[in-house]
Amino acid sequence: SNWEVKARNSARPRSKTGFSVLVTGAAGFVGTHVSIALKRRGDGVVGLDNFNNYYDTGLKKARKALVDRAGVYVIEGDINDAVLLRNLFETVHFTHVMHLAAQAGVRYAMQNPNSYIHSNVNGFVSLLEACKNATLQPSIVWASSSSVYGLNSKVPFSEKDRTDQPASLYAATKKAGEEIAHTYNHIYGLSITGLRFFTVYGPWGRPDMAYFFFTKDILKGKEIKIFEGADHATVARDFTYVDDVVKGCLAALDTAKKSTGNGGKKKGAAQFRIYNLGNTSPVPVLKLVAILEKLLKVKAKKKVLPMPRNGDVLFTHANISLARKELGYKPTTDLETGLKKFVKWYIRYYVSKKKSAWLIGGNESGGWMR
Ligand code: NAD
Repeated sequence: SNWEVKARNSARPRSKTGFSVLVTGAAGFVGTHVSIALKRRGDGVVGLDNFNNYYDTGLKKARKALVDRAGVYVIEGDINDAVLLRNLFETVHFTHVMHLAAQAGVRYAMQNPNSYIHSNVNGFVSLLEACKNATLQPSIVWASSSSVYGLNSKVPFSEKDRTDQPASLYAATKKAGEEIAHTYNHIYGLSITGLRFFTVYGPWGRPDMAYFFFTKDILKGKEIKIFEGADHATVARDFTYVDDVVKGCLAALDTAKKSTGNGGKKKGAAQFRIYNLGNTSPVPVLKLVAILEKLLKVKAKKKVLPMPRNGDVLFTHANISLARKELGYKPTTDLETGLKKFVKWYIRYYVSKKKSAWLIGGNESGGWMR
């Protein structure tokens, strides 16, 4: 049928050494960038996304148009749809799965806890089942989160640190994902790598994240709320630019071992790895705001408030020596440089109303992405 032909074509790598990668969450922020980067280097890519309305679906559709233009076919579907996954894995022999579909965001769990279980627990199991049952079992790389470090107060966070004190339901489902992935590795010989992302930001970012809605509100002259911990403790994040994270994702795919299906019993057993992908330089939220004021040339109306108990932690800070050693991961973008690119995109997308120009193509298209 039509979708099968499209999926097969899209999954075909340009060279023999290229991978065929299924990217879940391909219309998401990180998924868009990863899909395009994989396609550009010659891998075959098929995307999957359910286009849920957690945030602006118009933005997801615009990202899809961009991914389409790069030559990646994106299927609209849910990772919980076992029939769809079975058909897809019968149609295409994926060498790798880059699993980025999830219910993201920390605070939304207070409104819709089930969406986290649906996508991050049930959906992940459904995807792992499809990988396990595939004729050729793909290697899996997926996004965990720095949130698993939870209420741990030891900085910087290293992979060996405890992760038994989640501060949010989001964190709990990401932690559950790590345990589930480990089990599939152990029992079924799937090769699985988890990447703990640290506050990823950049063009085509997520409207529910602070740097994004601060930009929006500062431009509108609206007051922004800045939270601080007890005794005026600074809230800080290890902001990591999306291109750096994409490089880490590609390196994790490149170094992933083959799934063996031997349940990890034989020599050369499938691997289970977890890596931090951060920037190693936490920035206080007030500093973030100061950079945005400078780039937007607008003074923010700030209101400093005590941090509510909504699942956010005080600070994050990655130790990335393991990823550096084993993946060659080396972030190169500081916050101001990365935000400059974000702001340029934001203004173009939301303010100058030239959307249609780059969605159609031509000279206006995607210059900031090249
Ligand atoms: P995103 O919300 O932009 O992307 C996720 C995409 O997955 C969305 O397009 C959504 O429609 C899709 N999706 C959600 N549930 C689905 C389902 N059940 N079936 C099919 N598609 C589904 O988020 P993002 O920022 O691109 O994050 C990508 C991954 O990285 C997520 O796993 C997220 O938890 C993780 N992560 C992100 C950050 C960050 O700062 N952006 C930090 C830590 C971890």
